[in-house]
Amino acid sequence: MSDEIHGVAAPNEPNKIRLGESEIVFTRGDLRRFFCKVSTVPHPMGCWQWTAGTTKKCSGYGLFKINNKMVLAHRLSFLMANGKLDPNLRVCHSCDNTVCVNPAHLWQGTAKQNSQDMASKNRCFFGEEHPQSKLSDVQISEIRKRHSEGETQTALAKEFGVAQGHLSYVVRNLKRNDGGKKKAPRLERLEDLR
Ligand SMILES: [Zn+2]
Repeated sequence: MSDEIHGVAAPNEPNKIRLGESEIVFTRGDLRRFFCKVSTVPHPMGCWQWTAGTTKKCSGYGLFKINNKMVLAHRLSFLMANGKLDPNLRVCHSCDNTVCVNPAHLWQGTAKQNSQDMASKNRCFFGEEHPQSKLSDVQISEIRKRHSEGETQTALAKEFGVAQGHLSYVVRNLKRNDGGKKKAPRLERLEDLR
């Protein structure tokens, strides 16, 4: 059996790794199962396209079930490749392809750094131009999902750099304070760019 799968070293023994607030036991079998969900079709940008479930029907982040817990596939990929992951930081895509799990396209940064990266690529697609808008639509989706999976409001508020009260509004699906600006079509246009 090869010690490498798609360029990622396979663990010989079950490894205990931390992902977010939970410890995950991660095995060679999990690694194979993970890569069964990655497209083998070469991608023009070298992306590893996730073919299984995602956080949203169109686009979104890849999802992978491990130890009966659903995790974000790109975060797990970063963790597998680097052996560590700061649970307080985001895993960002240099390729802007959210379903990509190629660790060479992933980097860790704060929500602010990610927003600045997006802005530098003219991808301010979340209505962040509005001075009162603290979170992007993508971030809001991610927060709601992760909160529904058990992550605490405190931890999420810290990670995304917002007050817990603001985050509480977000997870309860209350209207964000954006003055009712139309914003949905911008996401659709982003998807067209990919
Ligand atoms: Zn990529």
